[in-house]
Order: sequence, then C-alpha cells, then structure tokens
Amino acid sequence: MAKILVTGGTGYIGSHTVIELIKAGYEPIIVDNLCNSKELVLDRIKEISGVRPKFYKVDVCDENKMREIFKNEKFNDIIHFAGLKSVAESVKYPELYQSNNIGSSKVLLKLMKEFGVHNIVFSSSATVYGTPKKVPLKEDDPVGGCTNPYGQTKLDIECLLKDYAKENKDANIAILRYFNPIGAHKSGLIGEDPQGIPNNLMPYVTQVAVGKREKLSVFGDDYNTPDGTCIRDYIHVVDLAKGHLAALNKLKEKPGLVIYNLGTGKGTSVLELVHAFESANNIKIPFEIAGRRPGDVPENYADVSKANKELHWKAEFNIEDSCRDSWNWQKKNPKGYEE
Ligand code: NAD
Ligand code: UDP
Repeated sequence: MAKILVTGGTGYIGSHTVIELIKAGYEPIIVDNLCNSKELVLDRIKEISGVRPKFYKVDVCDENKMREIFKNEKFNDIIHFAGLKSVAESVKYPELYQSNNIGSSKVLLKLMKEFGVHNIVFSSSATVYGTPKKVPLKEDDPVGGCTNPYGQTKLDIECLLKDYAKENKDANIAILRYFNPIGAHKSGLIGEDPQGIPNNLMPYVTQVAVGKREKLSVFGDDYNTPDGTCIRDYIHVVDLAKGHLAALNKLKEKPGLVIYNLGTGKGTSVLELVHAFESANNIKIPFEIAGRRPGDVPENYADVSKANKELHWKAEFNIEDSCRDSWNWQKKNPKGYEE
C-alpha cells in the first residue's frame, strides 16, 4: 500500500479525502495539530472505512518533528490541507495567517527536497482570482487583488510552489483551486464543524435549521445578478475529495506544475441555495435581507473544462444532494463533534 502524507487530514475536506484515499488503496498518514478539528474524526473515519489512519498530533510548522515523520514514514505523495481558513480572522491576525499557512508550506518544501519526495497536491482557493472581470473563471485568468490576508497567503504559496517547480525539475505539483465546498459524507458521520458563529453560508443555514440560530442574514440583495444575491459555485465535498485522487493520478504522469479549478461549473445564488435547502429537506429557513458583507464579490464560478478533460474528473452531486447531506450531518450531530 502506498503511504501518503495528509496534512490537515482531520479537517473538513481532509477527512473526506482520507476516506477516498483509503477506498483507493492508499495508506494515509495524517498530521494535524487539531487547532480546528477533533481527534474523534479518526474514529468516525474508522466507522466509515474500517481503517483508523495513523495520526501525528504535530504542527506542520515544526520542522524538526516533521523531519522525524518524513524519516520514519517514507511516503511518495503529500496532500497539504493544513492551514487556517477564516477570512475574518485573517483580517484580525494577518501575521498568524502568514506564519501558519506560508510557514507550514515552506517546511514541507524544504523536507521534500531533503528526502526526495516529488509529489504534492496543494489546497488553493478561488479567492486567488480576486474580483473576477468575467465568469466562469479559467485557470489562466489573472490572479491577485486578494481582498483579505487569507487569500493572499494562498496566492503567496502558489508563487512558492511555482518557484520550487522551476528549481526542482523532478517536482510534480498540483495546485487545486477549490470553489465553495459544502455537503458531507452520506453516512452523516463526518462533516463541517465550524467553531463559534459560522462565517460560511451552508453551516449557517444548517444551524438555523437545527434551531441553534434564529434566522439567516442574506448579505445583500442589490447585486447585479438575477435575484440580486451573490452567486457562488457550491461543490459537494465528496466530489472535491475525489478530485484529489484524480490529481494524484495526474501527478503519476510527471507533469511538473499543474493548476485546476475544482467546482461544478454552475453558479447558484444565496436565495437559490436557501430554497434548494428548503425543498431538499422540507424545512423552512427564516431569513432577512441584511447589508452587503465587505469584500464579497458578486459572482464567482468555475470553468471546469480543464479538470474534466485532463483529470477525467467531474462533480457528480447537485445542489439538492449537497443540501440533503449537509442537513443529515447537522441533524445527526447538532453540536458537531462535541460529545
Ligand atoms: P479545516 O479547518 O476543517 O481543516 C484544516 C486542518 O488543518 C484542521 O484540522 C486544522 O487543525 C489543521 N491545521 C491548521 N494549521 C495547521 C498546522 N500548522 N499544522 C497542523 N495542522 C494544522 O479546513 P478545510 O475546510 O478542510 O480546508 C482545508 C484546506 O482547504 C485549507 O488549506 C483551506 O484554506 C483550503 N480551502 C478551504 C475552503 C473551504 O471553503 N472550506 C475553500 C478553499 C480552500
Ligand atoms: N452569505 C450570507 N449569509 C451568511 C453567510 C454568507 O448571505 O450568513 C453569503 C455571502 O455574502 C456570499 C455567499 O453567501 O455571497 C457565500 O459566502 P461564503 O462565506 O460561504 O463563501 P465565500 O464568500 O467565501 O465564497
């Protein structure tokens, strides 16, 4: 079985990807410092897959501890999910986001060189496109103009990876730009578990549905879009997880550095998502129209033709499936992973 290092593997996207890796015959080695996830996730992964992955509670920024893991585990591939991801927090603590997100990536690149590990898949984000001039977004559209420090760290790491690929001809790097992951594993055993008040739309909606929050605030209905609310590309997290398997297969062809959008290619407005959630689950979501949220771009969705063609990958779930699975997770775990 091929060992693979999965940083941030107990997190939301990481845990779903670990399930797909196990299904595909990999042996995932998880490194996570649990700053935004719980060890209980490992039991849930075992319940779903029959395997409790090997786990190191280590900060990826800790070069010496990471060196020991590289020495002991001997893997050929890495998926680097570990990172802080709250836009609002990044505005408050930009240095923390720089040191954690960029610092952890630098440690991995240094050790990859030291140990001759060539393949890495990196979690980037559609946020690197800044305010799009046109949609759908293609991988060679301009990047930059990030409206927050979180997005800037993703862009900075993409630059580091590009420089590394130029210097290291053996390196194979897949930069995956995720659009908006939602949904959960169909078992309802793993899912998204934000701390405190959710920033993102879907966890807020599910917390309203479960009675934890009174009503949703829709941030702006005066955008230049058909119903006035912002448009995003919501992708089911299991589809996203499978995109990582497709990217790993691509790296076996030794392509050097490659970049892919992972989305559905379809835009959905805030109100469309709320209505899809209501009809998929037969639950009413009370909402009010609030003011615009600073930094929001009106419309953002992916052109996924490159990933469809080169990765032979395509999102299979639709928005109703995602709404059903998000709700299944939330109603089975009203307090998330808290016991
Ligand atoms: P998450 O917070 O659920 O998972 C990230 C994991 O990384 C957590 O378990 C956290 O404990 C861990 N971590 C953070 N810093 C670490 C460090 N220095 N050392 C070890 N572990 C560390 O987030 P997620 O939604 O699963 O996102 C995974 C990746 O995808 C992140 O890099 C994120 O920026 C990126 N991404 C997420 C989204 C999204 O909307 N969820 C969109 C685009 C990109
Ligand atoms: N949104 C909203 N109410 C909320 C959270 C989000 O109306 O409580 C809107 C937000 O303004 C954006 C969309 O939902 O238009 C998606 O927001 P999210 O934060 O989930 O993703 P991102 O903006 O990072 O793409």
